[in-house]
Amino acid sequence: LPRDILGERVNSAGVDLSDPLVLGPLQERLKRLESIQWRAEPTFPAEEPGEIAPITMPHDLTVEVGTRRDATAEEVDAAYARAEAIQPGWDALGGDRRALLLEEAANQFEAHTDEFLSLCQREAGKTLLDGVAELREAVDFLRYYAAEARRQFDEPLYLPGPTGEENTLRMHGRGVFATISPWNFPLAIFIGMASAALAAGNAVITKPAEQTPLTAALAVKLMHHAGIPPEVLQLLPGAGEVGQLITSDPRVAGVAFTGSTETARLINQSLAGRDGPIATLIAETGGQNAMIVDSSALPEQVVRDVLASAFQSAGQRCSALRVLYLQDDVADDMLAMIRGGFEALHVGDPADLATDVGPVIDPDAQAALERHVARSIASERNVARCFMPEGTDKGCYVAPTIIEVDSILDLNRENFGPVLHVARFKSEDLGQVVADINATGYGLTLGLHSRIAATRRYVQARAKVGNFYVNRNQIGAIVESQPFGGEGLSGTGPKAGGPNYLARFATERVTCIDT
Ligand code: GLU
Repeated sequence: LPRDILGERVNSAGVDLSDPLVLGPLQERLKRLESIQWRAEPTFPAEEPGEIAPITMPHDLTVEVGTRRDATAEEVDAAYARAEAIQPGWDALGGDRRALLLEEAANQFEAHTDEFLSLCQREAGKTLLDGVAELREAVDFLRYYAAEARRQFDEPLYLPGPTGEENTLRMHGRGVFATISPWNFPLAIFIGMASAALAAGNAVITKPAEQTPLTAALAVKLMHHAGIPPEVLQLLPGAGEVGQLITSDPRVAGVAFTGSTETARLINQSLAGRDGPIATLIAETGGQNAMIVDSSALPEQVVRDVLASAFQSAGQRCSALRVLYLQDDVADDMLAMIRGGFEALHVGDPADLATDVGPVIDPDAQAALERHVARSIASERNVARCFMPEGTDKGCYVAPTIIEVDSILDLNRENFGPVLHVARFKSEDLGQVVADINATGYGLTLGLHSRIAATRRYVQARAKVGNFYVNRNQIGAIVESQPFGGEGLSGTGPKAGGPNYLARFATERVTCIDT
């Protein structure tokens, strides 16, 4: 029987954008929400306010969506004091009562679908399709971690007592957890990390990406409306300096971070260099993700999955495909078909339903991607770019690009945007291809299109990646079904949306009672 009929938790159904009776009214409501000026500020603002920065739309930098008020050193300090004071009580509530609050928050999120879709679009430049996926994932994280809190944090685990003693193991929050989240999933990853830390019994201090604090501020407000005390979940907006204050505080028991490998290293140093408990770091960082396509693959499927993996969300997913390896005997035909689909990609306003590829997040990201493309052209690589329609010069658009390279090792950094590299390989060199992919040091996603079971087994046994996808695209991991996270330069390994995630936020305590 299906799980929902059995009364079990199922993932969110989202919004059916293919139904005109849903879509039309939704678009009208989104239009009306455009007049709102959103604000993000610390949960407990001090009298002396921090700096105020405007938040503008990535696709039109002249439009202000709202403002961010940065946390000051005094506010960070006071946030830790409040969090430390309340955390034991939050932990003592137990898994079931925390789960009820997280489930109520999930309901609140669904009730505010319009606001979230509007913010995802206007603050982060997301298409409606991406916005819906993002909200679904956020709701799924809340409900899944609630279920996991009940499973792991409510009743103690009774252990054997060979000499008659009673041995129990209980899971507890570690203390005050800090979460530092990225702009590419301003809702899903923001709330995913925070809700996991909360579910496990931690008080949480959270700093969203400087580019996307408004979505985070709404999420935190709804968490409070759901009944989570504001001292238990505190928002501290700001840029890197605020993050530095948060991660160098001796009271932080752990940090959950998603973002660049470089920032993860800085956080690690900051945690190591301060006084206080040895803090745990949960990091999910970048990728240099490949897809291998052999001559047994179905070309139509390959085209669909390559385009989605490389260009959906304007390539701004750490799971996104960066280097496509095509087996040489089919490479020309396959590339011609991919180019056909690629040239038809529509770059434009994320509010326009026809848009496949929206803007990148900000002018710095745009400039870095353009430098990479310019260097590739200067070194005489084959470079193809999509047509850019009128109006795209108002925002941070990068034309989707395909660059031919010899090997993944030609690239020395992750290019976080709509840029796909293509290399060719001979079937007898498959082992070398996998070795080169491993040699990048990254290990997040890997795609394979092949109908040969032995090839799948061969790659699966050797590739050092967190998420391996066969005969499909390699983005959009689903909570509980495809727990997500990488290894090596891609992160410390915990899988968001997986059964072992909450344990990484917890400490285990054993009680032994002799009779
Ligand atoms: N979980 C997302 C996916 O599977 C990617 C998360 C990220 O970009 O950090 O596409």
